[in-house]
Formats: sequence, C-alpha cells, structure tokens
Amino acid sequence: MHANVQPHVLDMRMIESVNNSIRHLSPTEIRSKMKRRSLRRVSIKPSSGVANDMHSGSDWDKAEFVLEELRRQCDTPADLLYRLVEDMVEEMKAGLAKEGGSKDYKMILTYVDKLPSGKERGHFYALDLGGTNFRVLRVSFGQDGSTPVFQEVSIPQEIMLGQHEELFDYIAGKLAEFVSKEDSSYHPRPGCKRELGFTFSFPIKQTSIDSGELIKWTKGFAVEGTAGKDVVQALNEAMERRGLDMVVTALVNDTVGTLAVASLAASKADAGDEVMISVILGTGTNACYVESIDAIPKWKGPKPSSGNMIISMEWGGFSSSLLPRTQYDEALDAVSVNPGEQIFEKLLSGMYLGDIVRRVLLRLAEEAALFGPSVPPNLLIPCILGTPHVSCMHQDKSSDLQEVGRILSNVLGIHETSLELRKLVVEVCSIIAKRAARLAGAGIVGILRKIGRDRSKHDGSSSHRTVVAMDGGLYEHYPLFRAEMKAAVVELLGSEVAENVLIELSKDGSGIGAALLAAAHSKYSRYGW
Ligand code: ADP
Ligand code: MG
Repeated sequence: MHANVQPHVLDMRMIESVNNSIRHLSPTEIRSKMKRRSLRRVSIKPSSGVANDMHSGSDWDKAEFVLEELRRQCDTPADLLYRLVEDMVEEMKAGLAKEGGSKDYKMILTYVDKLPSGKERGHFYALDLGGTNFRVLRVSFGQDGSTPVFQEVSIPQEIMLGQHEELFDYIAGKLAEFVSKEDSSYHPRPGCKRELGFTFSFPIKQTSIDSGELIKWTKGFAVEGTAGKDVVQALNEAMERRGLDMVVTALVNDTVGTLAVASLAASKADAGDEVMISVILGTGTNACYVESIDAIPKWKGPKPSSGNMIISMEWGGFSSSLLPRTQYDEALDAVSVNPGEQIFEKLLSGMYLGDIVRRVLLRLAEEAALFGPSVPPNLLIPCILGTPHVSCMHQDKSSDLQEVGRILSNVLGIHETSLELRKLVVEVCSIIAKRAARLAGAGIVGILRKIGRDRSKHDGSSSHRTVVAMDGGLYEHYPLFRAEMKAAVVELLGSEVAENVLIELSKDGSGIGAALLAAAHSKYSRYGW
C-alpha cells in the first residue's frame, strides 16, 4: 500500500520529479507551463502495479495535472460571473415575456400576490408533500408563544405506486386523524372550514392560488391517474369523501413558503427590511422572487392590488454555455434521469456535489493511481459519496484531517491514507464546493439586478434593505459553502451595495410558510378568530 511509503518520501519524489522538468524556469513560467500541460487531456493508463511504484513522481505529477485542470475549469472569476448574471437577466425577461419564452427558466406564476403582513390570526394547517414522508401541521397565528403542532406520516410504497384516489384518500384519512385529536377550541366556526396550505413539491402547472395540475411525478412516486389532474381538487374531493371540514386555500412550493416565513419575521422585526428573494439549496435548488406585475407581459389576469406577483423561477434549468462545466459534470449529466436538463442544478445542489467529487477522485485513482495500484471498488459506485461527506471533509479542522481519513476509509474503503493525500481530497472538495457556492451567489445577484436592487441607493433604488431568505440542507449545514456564496455576492455587488442585502436562513417554509400563505389567502377572512 502507498500508505506504507512515508509521506516525506512521497513529497521528495514529487518535488524531485517536478524539479527535474522545471528547474530552469521562473515561477510565472512554471505556472504557465503547468497550465499548458494541463490543457492536454491526461490519458495515462493506471499504473500496472508494483506497490512501491505507484507513487512515483510521475503519478503525483499526473495527479497535479488533473487537479490543475480542475482548478482551471472550475474557476469562477468575477468577470465570468458578471457575464452569467447578464445571461440570467436575459433569460428571466424572456421567460416573463411569454410561456416557454426562455429555454432555461420557466418563470412560473405562483398566483401569490400578497405576503403575510403579521396581522394573520387563527389556526391554519399545512400539508407538506414532497418525499417519502408527508407532514401535517397546525399553526396558531396571533398567539405569542404557541408552537406549531406537527405530525409526520410515512407513505407506504404501495400508495406511492398505487392509484390516484388511493393516495388522496390516504392523505385525507391522516388529516382526519390529526384533527380528531383536537379539542373544541380548534373547531371552525359554523359555515367555515379549516384552511390548509398545501406544499406540493412536484412539477405542477399552477392555474390559481388554489389549483394546479401535476405535470409528472418524480422522486419515486408513480401514482396512476394523477398527471394532468388538479391536485387541489383531488385533495378537496378526498377530504369531502371523508367528511372532513377542511379546504385547501393555497397551493405553494417551498421557495414561496420560505419567502412567506421570512416576510413575517421581517414584518415583526419592523426594521423596514423587504423580503424580495428566496432560494432553496437542498437536494435540488430553486429560487423565487417578488416581481412587479408590469414586468410580466405573460400575465393576462387583473392587476393584483399589491402590484406584484411572486415568480418561481425554476432556476435549476439555467444552461448558459458560459457555465464552467467539466468532463465530470458531463459524465454525471449523461447518466442522470434527465440528461441535458437542470444543468445549473447539477453544478450546485446537494444531490450532485458528492458525486462530482467522487468522479474526480475516480479519475485520480485511474490515471494517477492515487489510491494504490488498483482502483478502490467503492469509487465506482455512483452517489456513494454524499454532499454531507464533502462538507464534512472540507470542513475538517483537525491537524491530521481525521474526518477525511475516516470518510475515505468508511465510505470509500480507502484505508491508511497519508496526510498529503487527505489534503488533496480536501482540495477537490473545496474546488467543487467553491464553484457551486459562487454560482449560487451569481444567481442571487442575477435576481437583484433584475429587480434593480444591485445598485447603490443614490440612484433612486429602494432605501430599504433587501432580504434574501435561504433554506435547504446544503445551505444550512455547510458553513464554508455559505461563506463562499456570500463572499461572491459581496464581490459582485461591491461592499457598499452588499451592506443593504441581507442573506439569511429562514426555516420551514414548506410547513409554517404554507400555513401562513393559507392564512394570507383565507377564504373566510378569519382574522380575529
Ligand atoms: P430537500 O431539499 O430534499 O427538501 P433538505 O432541504 O433537508 O431537503 O436538503 C437535504 C439535502 O441537503 C441533502 O440532499 C444533502 O445533499 C444536503 N445536506 C444535508 N446535510 C448536509 C451537510 N451536513 N452538508 C452539506 N449538505 C448537506
Ligand atoms: Mg425541502
């Protein structure tokens, strides 16, 4: 095993090999030579195998080539990000102009034209359906200190793969069970029903605040007969069949819910901050923002009293040819369930970062025999390395990179790694995460530019601070990612403008946010109840 070779011996070999080829060059020349060399695709067969050979200087040289190529291809200098921002703004405008106007952004009309004001009162419910579990919750607004009541329900496989009515009857049954435990203080007034915000995290074509058709099931669901049908109607009918006095008042997605939660927090804080944008960085990624109705030519309805409409961008679909993609991204895309789609999402969301890193490590194993004469079998297993592993390795603060060693060993079956090798793995994680974070930052700046909040106050733009509400496991649990993303936003906006942009974590949009939107769009105007 290479681990038997002392790290300083490896160091010496690497230095020696590099020294031999670049001895006569200046530091600048060395760098440009490395760059030139890395332009050539390295295509070297795995070393055939004598244990002591595998970390010969040339192997490390090859590893350095691969790494240098990765650094260069993933580089996101400000000028590139500015050009991406311009592309984003053009696509946003095209998507707002007409249905299907942008090849990248759907710019979905959410029919949410008002955000919570803080004056909401009463008991509201939320149903969060988007994975193998769904959550039901009740939130009581206007009662300080009252905590939401939750219930999590798993969905049996046979329901996920079953028939349309069975699914909605199952959900209605669980909702009925939930309310059956409530005492009479929660019962609706005569003539009224309990109101529910429905977070439905599958692709839908929304037709009003309380209707939308499922385009197609994803994430393991394959319920027959739902595609093309209105999911709100389906749930309302199932609740009626069940004799449940509940009705859906708002059909939302998690970005809109996040905007709602942050908006309520801002109105309570009363500092005049305006929540304009929300971004989810979780398994997938998306953003929504508050757009002026006058900037939405494809909106054909009456002008909402707020003058605004929240637009869900589906920003994961951005696919500009300027995006810094690599052979690893292309290979990942090719074997994905949706090749050629969601290119932006595949560069930066939690579902993919781990596998991009795995693919780089695999190439290093194959072409530089980085982990020994044979390729560690686990490296060949798609998605074995998750984004939480990447963040854990990247943020390992121990002097001997213990966590890196542990993950390499436990997850990838690569045991007894040297410190140099662990450092190299950390560098791969860092390059991939930094690219992702800076692209997310550019996405935020793209929206700020679209709504004119990327400028200083002196030119007539709003004097309020702009809040960008963030949610999702990737953002929440990866501090270095957050820091890189914020740094990119500051770099692109300049520090003076950036001071007026608050990027803040805002949790549970898909639960509390949905209940809030049900309240804001109440059919019974039950404020004061
Ligand atoms: P979802 O997007 O499925 O609604 P979350 O918002 O909870 O769910 O995000 C989950 C995703 O967040 C996971 O797929 C994972 O990629 C990412 N994630 C979870 N924990 C971490 C972590 N510690 N570091 C980095 N990413 C994480
Ligand atoms: Mg989520």
